[in-house]
Amino acid sequence: MDCIFCRIVAGELPAHKVYEDADLLAFMDIQPITRGHVLLIPKQHHATLLDTPAHMLAKITAALPEVCHAVTRGTGAEGFNILQSNGACAGQVVGHIHFHIVPRKTGDGIGLGFRHHPPVKDDLARTAQDIRSALA
Ligand code: AMP
Ligand code: ZN
Repeated sequence: MDCIFCRIVAGELPAHKVYEDADLLAFMDIQPITRGHVLLIPKQHHATLLDTPAHMLAKITAALPEVCHAVTRGTGAEGFNILQSNGACAGQVVGHIHFHIVPRKTGDGIGLGFRHHPPVKDDLARTAQDIRSALA
C-alpha cells in the first residue's frame, strides 16, 4: 500500500485523530497552515472528488460541519477555510481525496494565493456555454 492516508487508516502510520466513524477519519495535518489544521478523508481510497461515489461525498459533507465546528471551537478560531485540491496541477500532493479544514483569525496573514493580478480576462458567455454543453 503506497498511499499515506490509507496507511493512516490501516493504523500503519501514526496520526493525531480528532474524528472517526465507520467511513470517515479526520486527523491533524502534519504541516499545518494554521494551528488546528485538520484533514477529513473517507477511509476508502478514492483519488479525487470525481472518483468518489456520491454516497460517500454525502457522508463527507454531512460530517464536515460538525468537524469544522469542533475545529473552530477547539482552537478559538473565528472562521475557517475548506480547501480541496484535485490533480497535481491544482496542488494535490496526496492522491487520496481529502478536505483541508484551516482555522482562521482576523489578521492571521494567511493568503490563499488564488487571485490573478490583474484578474484573468474570460469571455463569460462563451465559457458558460462550454460548461453547459459539457453538462449535457
Ligand atoms: P494536498 O497538497 O492537498 O495533497 O495536501 C496534502 C496534505 O497532507 C499536506 O497538507 C500535508 O501536510 C499532509 N500530510 C502529508 N502526510 C501526512 C501525514 N503523514 N499525516 C498528516 N498529514 C499529512
Ligand atoms: Zn488512500
